[in-house]
Amino acid sequence: MKPREDAAPAPGAEFDLIRRHFQRPEAPTTPAVALGIGDDCALLQPSPGHQLAISSDMLVEGVHFFHDVVPEALGHKALAVNLSDLAAMGARPLGFTLALALPRVDDAWLAAFSRGLFALAEAHACPLVGGDTTRGPLNLCITIFGELRPGQALRRDAAQVGDDLYLSGAVGEARLALELLRGTPWATAHSAPDALSRLRERLERPAPRVALGQALAGLAHAAIDVSDGLAGDLGHILRASGAGAEIELDALPLPPDLVRLPEAQRLECLLHGGDDYELLFTAAPDAREQVLAAARDSQTPVQRIGRITAGAGPLRLIGPQGRTVAVPTRGFDHFA
Ligand code: ADP
Ligand code: MG
Repeated sequence: MKPREDAAPAPGAEFDLIRRHFQRPEAPTTPAVALGIGDDCALLQPSPGHQLAISSDMLVEGVHFFHDVVPEALGHKALAVNLSDLAAMGARPLGFTLALALPRVDDAWLAAFSRGLFALAEAHACPLVGGDTTRGPLNLCITIFGELRPGQALRRDAAQVGDDLYLSGAVGEARLALELLRGTPWATAHSAPDALSRLRERLERPAPRVALGQALAGLAHAAIDVSDGLAGDLGHILRASGAGAEIELDALPLPPDLVRLPEAQRLECLLHGGDDYELLFTAAPDAREQVLAAARDSQTPVQRIGRITAGAGPLRLIGPQGRTVAVPTRGFDHFA
């Protein structure tokens, strides 16, 4: 679209900016990219017989990150959240586009941002193939493209009664990091002085579970990536699948920095934390061996934390001695 006169960076500056920071002549091309940055469209070539998996995520300053966030970490996270969506579908990454609104052209900032972005892109062989650049309040939107075999996607509506419920890694640390950054009294009062330096990585540089997601494609039933909190995201699977679930609290991995929190806040972090980007998935009980093999092959810790139950019932938490624990109030909702 032809921009209003003051909307675009100065004439020539836009192409220059793209060339300096986002076009990488040395970038390894993958067979999936028939044509990358520079034309009106990029051309992607999925493997024969595969479906495309497509997802977009927008990151807005003041909503998803603080204005003083380290730009390298922001570049990492912008792509990480999109890779996590592919992982949650069981798809293999092919490439991504980047739409960027920038208040000004700050070369040092852009260099650091693209360093974080490309480090993760290269680690997952997922090249940047195009995008758009405009002037405006800082805002990043990535659209990612992946591929998978028909019938193998890990859909939210595919959980079956009796399925085991699994979680990769652990949840809760990103939320505690966020509360420590905000200086929330319950977080600071019960955390070690060096907790934030340990936990910050979990908030700012999540590691998307791409290898695990692909290993589970065609094996697991339903999956979702935990971005808004374990309970809320499990709720999406349960609603879509028309089922209920039980989580055994003792089976839920407890990160060491959460041990000292009061019980209510510990549960809040575990169940409603958000920004974890772990995979929550279900699989038939007779697939346990294969699920553990998928975890081993992808070098990803995986824990069985509960099961899918009959009826579109609510989530039940099972505490010590099998007693039912009430699920505390809901997680984060942008419009709540
Ligand atoms: P058009 O006017 O046809 O949309 P643009 O001038 O916006 O083209 O972009 C020129 C080329 O640069 C296109 O191939 C586009 O995909 C790419 N591009 C623009 N912004 C970015 C960006 N932030 N990252 C990567 N590629 C970009
Ligand atoms: Mg454009």
